[in-house]
Amino acid sequence: MKNIAILCSGGDVSGMNPALKHFVEYSLEKKLTPYFIYDGYEGLIDNNIEKVSYSDVSGIINRGGTKIGSARSKRFMSQKYREIAKQNLDILNIQMLVVLGGDGSFRGLDTFYKEHNVKFCGIPSTIDNDINGTDYCLGVDTALNTIKTSIDAIRDTASSFKRAFVVETMGRDCGYLALVTALTSGAELCLIPEIKYDLNSYEEDFKIQMKNGRRYFLAVISEGIDNSADEISNWFEEKIGIESRVSILGHIQRGGNPSVYDRLMAYKFVTYAIDGLLNGENNSVICHTKNDFVYKSINEVVNTSHTLDKELISCINKPS
Ligand code: ADP
Repeated sequence: MKNIAILCSGGDVSGMNPALKHFVEYSLEKKLTPYFIYDGYEGLIDNNIEKVSYSDVSGIINRGGTKIGSARSKRFMSQKYREIAKQNLDILNIQMLVVLGGDGSFRGLDTFYKEHNVKFCGIPSTIDNDINGTDYCLGVDTALNTIKTSIDAIRDTASSFKRAFVVETMGRDCGYLALVTALTSGAELCLIPEIKYDLNSYEEDFKIQMKNGRRYFLAVISEGIDNSADEISNWFEEKIGIESRVSILGHIQRGGNPSVYDRLMAYKFVTYAIDGLLNGENNSVICHTKNDFVYKSINEVVNTSHTLDKELISCINKPS
């Protein structure tokens, strides 16, 4: 029997619990013994590691956050503590790690691999969607849905009271959450760190819109832009002449019931991570890249019947 462990590092996201559930079930299906490492690299250093089975992951698929905790670890940055971590893994004969985290966590793992040859596969997990090489990071869809629900509610009051609302999303230096939210919530203004902006250039157009009967404005801004949400709000009041309010969504964006897409992606990321480890991918990050739009002939579309995705069909539970 080979032993495999999973840990969560850095910020938690919705989708980690569904990933833990599938990790345990798929490991057992592949005749591996699954272990949980609690509280990220801290648990690896402190030997907070536990053998797990089906009952440890029952009832968690619909829960946000992570059952095994997540942490940042200063100690894991030092070779001395990584040595201790390796000793802990050796005692339990764990040769493979699956890590849910961001690029910082993966950098740490790669150092660990180079020093101690512990195989790993990283699963990109951050609501910021800012990891190079993957189009999707676990947790993003749930965060977007949470933001959408909040903005839909804000829109109701904005239109009732003739107001501008400035909604700030998370994302650090990445404007992905704000950009997708602005597009899918019909915002009039979207400001993100990647694009230089000049508020004055919106002034005339917004005033004309007000004259023509617009009752409210919705601005979605990313936390990483040069101006604060209050400054944008003051601009609406002073330059456009509409009462304005700020709503900083903060940590509600991270938690909550994982969306269908995040549950499915958790399932797929974990399957690929474990398969990769069993097939010689010793130090990789499992990335998800674009499904493009393609033009197809009418013949191809209407003369061939639809078939279900083979990969999905293969996931159906089979009798053991
Ligand atoms: P994220 O994984 O979300 O990018 P961080 O950058 O905070 O988050 O990294 C998470 C953890 O990964 C750190 O607290 C540290 O324990 C570990 N880590 C990051 N970089 C390194 C490194 N160069 N060497 C060893 N460990 C690292």
